[in-house]
Amino acid sequence: MVRRRTRRPARGRRGHRLRRQRERHHPRRPYRGSTNSAGEWGHTTVQAGGRRCRCGARGCLEAYVGAEAVLERFRQARRGRTTPGADNESTFAALLTAADTSSAAQRVLEEAAVYLGAGIANLVNLFNPQRIILGGWAGLLFGARMLPRIRETVAAQALRQPYAHTTIGLCRLGPHAVALGAATVPVGRFLTEDAHRPARRPATAPDER
Ligand SMILES: [Zn+2]
Repeated sequence: MVRRRTRRPARGRRGHRLRRQRERHHPRRPYRGSTNSAGEWGHTTVQAGGRRCRCGARGCLEAYVGAEAVLERFRQARRGRTTPGADNESTFAALLTAADTSSAAQRVLEEAAVYLGAGIANLVNLFNPQRIILGGWAGLLFGARMLPRIRETVAAQALRQPYAHTTIGLCRLGPHAVALGAATVPVGRFLTEDAHRPARRPATAPDER
């Protein structure tokens, strides 16, 4: 009979030390940068000297693929005529519907897909991710129609090796995934940090000393 050796997770102080070492080498925390401002992907430059972004710089990705920017491009393409809609979300949905028959809407969406694809290609080359998910109400509306074109652009722009191991899809958690993700941060901290701290001893009453 062959006895199979199984590796049990270390417990106690040794287990805690090993977990800390593992986290140091393979941190599962988001990268925040030195002043917590990392990850501003929307404000990376995709067109030097390009359109003015709300951050004050020119040529940011957001100035080309943000919902408000895309709607503004469509308004310009229609020589100032606005698209019907009670808010940005319904107006954006109307723009996507208009693309069935309007060549101006098609051009605006095509341009946004190419810029978004270029931005994602930058992410692929920088971070070599396994999966990229488009989310938020605008990302879901836009991706539902333009995902094939976005993937095409990423394939053309990204390095072949990292792109071959990356999938690009739509978020399945609905339009409020960002809020859900934010809510998991304190829960994750509680589970990974507080759970490993030794339980506090109850305060000793004076008459127990
Ligand atoms: Zn910007």
